[in-house]
Amino acid sequence: MTNSLEFKSSFINNSEKKPALDTEGRNLLARPRFSLRLHILLLFILFSFLSMAIIIGSVIVINCIQKKISFVQTTERYLFYIEQARRWEKNYFLYDTNLEDAIQITGNAKTLLSQNLKKLMTVLSAEETANMIENLEKYRSLLQELTVLKKNGIVNAGKKHKIETSLRKHGAEMVKVAAALVYKEQNSMNAMLRLIQRIPIYCFAVVLLLTIFLVHFLSKRLIKPFNLLIESTQRIAKGDFSLVPPICRYRGEFTAVEVAINQMLKELKSHELTMVESHKLRAVGTLTAGVAHELNNPLNNIMLTAHAMLEDHNGLSEDELLEMINDLINEADRSRSIVRNLLDFARESESVSEPLDLGMLVSETIKLTLNQAKVSGVKIETQIQPDLPRIRGDKQQLKQVFLNLILNALDAVEKGGNIKINLKKADSPGFLAVQVEDNGCGIPSHILPNIFDPFFTTKGSGKGTGLGLSVSHGIITMHGGQINLETEEGKYTRFTVILPSRNIPADFNKT
Ligand code: ADP
Repeated sequence: MTNSLEFKSSFINNSEKKPALDTEGRNLLARPRFSLRLHILLLFILFSFLSMAIIIGSVIVINCIQKKISFVQTTERYLFYIEQARRWEKNYFLYDTNLEDAIQITGNAKTLLSQNLKKLMTVLSAEETANMIENLEKYRSLLQELTVLKKNGIVNAGKKHKIETSLRKHGAEMVKVAAALVYKEQNSMNAMLRLIQRIPIYCFAVVLLLTIFLVHFLSKRLIKPFNLLIESTQRIAKGDFSLVPPICRYRGEFTAVEVAINQMLKELKSHELTMVESHKLRAVGTLTAGVAHELNNPLNNIMLTAHAMLEDHNGLSEDELLEMINDLINEADRSRSIVRNLLDFARESESVSEPLDLGMLVSETIKLTLNQAKVSGVKIETQIQPDLPRIRGDKQQLKQVFLNLILNALDAVEKGGNIKINLKKADSPGFLAVQVEDNGCGIPSHILPNIFDPFFTTKGSGKGTGLGLSVSHGIITMHGGQINLETEEGKYTRFTVILPSRNIPADFNKT
């Protein structure tokens, strides 16, 4: 009674107050914050930097191309000047014309060269540049020498021929270097043009990579936590109230959901405990009626024997007296075992794993319900295969399972109904099977998927808590066994509890 009152008051307190955050909740919230908003902001900054880098890169490349174009034009003009100078040089030797033109145009070439010396030095080595200037100077000075010879009316044919040979050599060299320069600059400009043509492809690749990264990121940071939360809620719906593990490494928007769910789970657990206890108390209530009836018989016998002894104590022989005293002891013993059975069931106890005789355990549990069955007019038939191997388990918990199944069967059958309890070796070796079968209302197929869910009941309020099967399922799973069910609506229901007669799970004592 005290227990139920304590539960009640703690439940009222829990429902009235908003529960304070527990250590797990505080730990979850104490982690460094790295929210989704911050993720998105960082991604946005990264994206902006990338776009800026692409734009700046494009502007730089376009600028370079512009400079290249103007330099290529300059080198082409230089090439044109010196080629023209060479044409006029030929005219002079063939027709004695254009010598002044040739000198003038080499002057233009010289001016062009000196104006673009810096640019030239970035393309050619210092030695190449010096050679180029030297060739031009030499060529121009040879042309000027020819002018002097011409003005003086050329007398020295040998000297003229020597100048001509030298002019050809320097001229050819100048054209070769200038042509190579033009060719080199055109090539470098083409390379830049190809680069700028490729920029959209590079941009596309970067955007593609970013999109893949974004999808991956979103699935990791958004979809994965959602899936984990869905999995957790499905798990909770199946009655597994273990806490949700940390979803993300850092604190973020999901942490609040996680903390709230964990908080809710703790509330549910304490609620479930209260309900389990009330389910047990309901069973105790049901049993008490039967037990009271059961106690009546031995007490009556004790009373009758005691009265007989009181009235006839002088006329009774010693043997008769001894027999009556033995009767008294036996009846008192019977009463004590009835009361002890009820107390055993009602008492809260730590889980203890011990070797058990399942046949004895089942018989003891049936005894608890016999009177209830008698009151309801239901026949209980028991069949226990002899010499079965022992199992290891918790006596009270297993008793609770069989009691739940028998009480459910009693609820399901009408007066005159029949319950068959059968203990035998299971089909799979190393296992025992306990069948509890009734010829009651059966279970409709549409509620079959729910009957093992916690708090699922079809019984009216105050009659059913919906915890019998879910608690039984938990206990049997913990013992390394399983509960199977066969039923047909309106005909019968058969629960089969399979338990291992060896191979007890290692974590069994944690129940
Ligand atoms: P409760 O008995 O408190 O309702 P249980 O978890 O023991 O909770 O049972 C859940 C539901 O399963 C019951 O409400 C009932 O509808 C159904 N059920 C269980 N055992 C039987 C049975 N032997 N025959 C018919 N229905 C049953």
